[in-house]
Amino acid sequence: MRKGKSTLAVRAGEMKDPTRSVTTPIYQTFTYLYPTDDPRTWQGEAPSGIYLYTRHENPTVAAVEDKLAALEGGDRALLFSSGMAAISTVLLTKLREGDTVLAMADVYGGSIAMLGQLPRYGIKVRALSLEQMASLPEHLDDGVRMVWMESPTNPTLKLVDFPLIAAQARERGALTVMDSTFATPCNQRPLGHGVDLVVHSCSKYLNGHSDLIGGAVIGARSVMEGIKSGRRRMGGVMDPHATFLLQRGMKTLSIRMERHNANGLEVARHLESHPQHELATKLMDGYGGMLAFDINGGLDEAKRFLRSLRLVALAPSLGGVESLASMPIMTSHAVLTETEGAALGITEATVRLSVGIEGVEDIIADLDSALDAMKEKPDAHSPFFRGELAS
Ligand code: PLP
Repeated sequence: MRKGKSTLAVRAGEMKDPTRSVTTPIYQTFTYLYPTDDPRTWQGEAPSGIYLYTRHENPTVAAVEDKLAALEGGDRALLFSSGMAAISTVLLTKLREGDTVLAMADVYGGSIAMLGQLPRYGIKVRALSLEQMASLPEHLDDGVRMVWMESPTNPTLKLVDFPLIAAQARERGALTVMDSTFATPCNQRPLGHGVDLVVHSCSKYLNGHSDLIGGAVIGARSVMEGIKSGRRRMGGVMDPHATFLLQRGMKTLSIRMERHNANGLEVARHLESHPQHELATKLMDGYGGMLAFDINGGLDEAKRFLRSLRLVALAPSLGGVESLASMPIMTSHAVLTETEGAALGITEATVRLSVGIEGVEDIIADLDSALDAMKEKPDAHSPFFRGELAS
């Protein structure tokens, strides 16, 4: 029987070390003694458990890859030095000149920037709106090799019916990739619904402590083919020390996500509900801790709101234990022009909130008091953020 996600988060990939260590040690090394003098042993992909060079594989990295593969329900996972290293390696190994990739228009700004590079390599990119994604078969012509999705999206939390999209794409021989960073395997497992590859920024919820940068790709063995050698060629492997921090963070993923889901829901209820709630209920086990909303009055009012926060800290990124707020036009979606942003529902008044695991009553009180403070006379000279708890 498949173990529960809390059990997998704690135990998968652990206690296999030859020293019989209960925790996975950090193998802070990059090279290993040749196992034999037979040159075939170190040509191509070394057999599993034979380590030669850390850009190829490393025992700490391999153990945490096993944990993530078990959590997502894939045969194999590979860890990368950042979410963008994972994304660019998948795109550049799975696509070739002449291919077309259909990408949801509403994806993370860094992914938009990377997809925008592909035409340089003779790969065509077509951006699809949410409505176009809903009629995908009309867009699946012969050259389409890949469908790139993100659900829920950064920052506006839009969802797509990925089991349906995966089935439609498969029928036409196209590969589906899902950036599942916002959901984590605790809230959705796209591989079980027919999606071919899942990518993550591990810098977010998977690690959860805002202290490392990393990425991952997970899938069935046959689909993962070529991605490991792509990682070796492009060089974006995760460092063993960062991997150690990730496995430590991941052991509490399940309980952190329970709290993020509960806090996120309560704050969302306090503000307003979500237009795709029904689809989220169908696809997800929890809704996560991410929210996005617009402040009435535009940029200046949005800045006044952010300046008035005392507990919620102003910083890019998300998915950590601490609540953070940011303006997507300044961070995740700075690559978009004003018109492009507006078409996706991202304006200069959009605030993205990553609800942490602090007491939800304290988070709500902070948001309410920031909204109240906006009714007072503007204080144009106050610093952008002063944390209440920062000395
Ligand atoms: N995917 C999503 C949804 C993200 O939000 C991010 C970063 O914010 C990335 C990918 C890129 O990850 P990284 O910053 O670890 O390269």
